[in-house]
Amino acid sequence: MKALVFSDMDDHTIQLLSYFSGMMDTDCVTSGHKAAQIAEFCAGTVYSLKNQFFPDTISSVIADLHKKNAYDYLVIGSTAVGRDVAGILGEELGIDVASEITEFRIDGDSCVTKRFFYGGKTVIEESSKSRILTVMPGISEPKKSTKPGNVVEITGPDSRISLVNRENKSAGAVDLEKAGIIVSVGRGIGNKENIEKIRPLAEAVRGEIAGSRPICLDYHWLSEDRQVGLSGKKVKPKMYIALGISGQIQHIAGMRGSKVVVAINKDKSAPIFEEADYGIVGDIFQVVPKIVDLLKQ
Ligand SMILES: Cc1cc2nc3c(=O)[nH]c(=O)nc-3n(C[C@H](O)[C@H](O)[C@H](O)COP(=O)(O)OP(=O)(O)OC[C@H]3O[C@@H](n4cnc5c(N)ncnc54)[C@H](O)[C@@H]3O)c2cc1C
Repeated sequence: MKALVFSDMDDHTIQLLSYFSGMMDTDCVTSGHKAAQIAEFCAGTVYSLKNQFFPDTISSVIADLHKKNAYDYLVIGSTAVGRDVAGILGEELGIDVASEITEFRIDGDSCVTKRFFYGGKTVIEESSKSRILTVMPGISEPKKSTKPGNVVEITGPDSRISLVNRENKSAGAVDLEKAGIIVSVGRGIGNKENIEKIRPLAEAVRGEIAGSRPICLDYHWLSEDRQVGLSGKKVKPKMYIALGISGQIQHIAGMRGSKVVVAINKDKSAPIFEEADYGIVGDIFQVVPKIVDLLKQ
């Protein structure tokens, strides 16, 4: 069996290659700048695309490679660009797409996939003959291939999209997916000004500040790029410190991959404690300063 892997995020490409290489031969399509590094995770051919990464160009390149090499699976990272690419490919090649999957296995001539369902409340397992997969980030740890792949430069057709303007992210924008420690606040923080009261903790542990959906999306106390959850960022820090977060399933869906979870909540029956490795039942405004004092000592 053979798969062609693509994601516009290099880390994600490496995860996909690490996961699928255990089950089948893999080639991949990537941008030029990290092709050599990605080749360490791909035993087959790394097609290094010289064009800009627009969905119409990428899907055309993948469709051509598929017609030439007859891949069993087209594995696409589930990002904004990846979802467009998968949609175009599904339509163009007439192949079914299994979307947003978090697990995959082969079962005869079908595949069995898992994905979140009912807004993240449960996980559904489906058997299908889908041959295009969009795969969520975090599916695997990086695992180098036994032999490095062969990098081949390719040029796709010009895109019908043109880049009109580039704008920098707003000051303070973060890459939460890469953060080692995250200090996340929920509605228990009370108001925007109180976020300053937990900043000393974030500084003491050198963590990034994040929040639940109400904090980021509804009240705008933090910027939207700091939202963790089903409709926000999916994070996998070494430590996730949840302050005044109840732990609804839509929030958990974004931080489930954290290695160690610490929760502080004044309600001892808050569901966040079911996810927590360390839980403190108490008021964040009393507990956090004590932890900061201890860390300073
Ligand atoms: C389709 C869909 C997508 C969603 N996506 C997301 C998402 O991506 N991310 C997300 O977070 N949510 C998401 N939600 C919303 C989610 O269902 C919850 O409403 C939300 O996570 C609750 O946020 P919270 O924990 O901050 O607030 P609450 O549920 O109100 O919890 C506040 C907690 O703070 C505690 N508390 C209060 N004061 C203190 C104090 N002084 N000290 C200690 N503890 C205190 C309370 O006991 C309570 O447990 C989504 C919902 C839907 C329907």
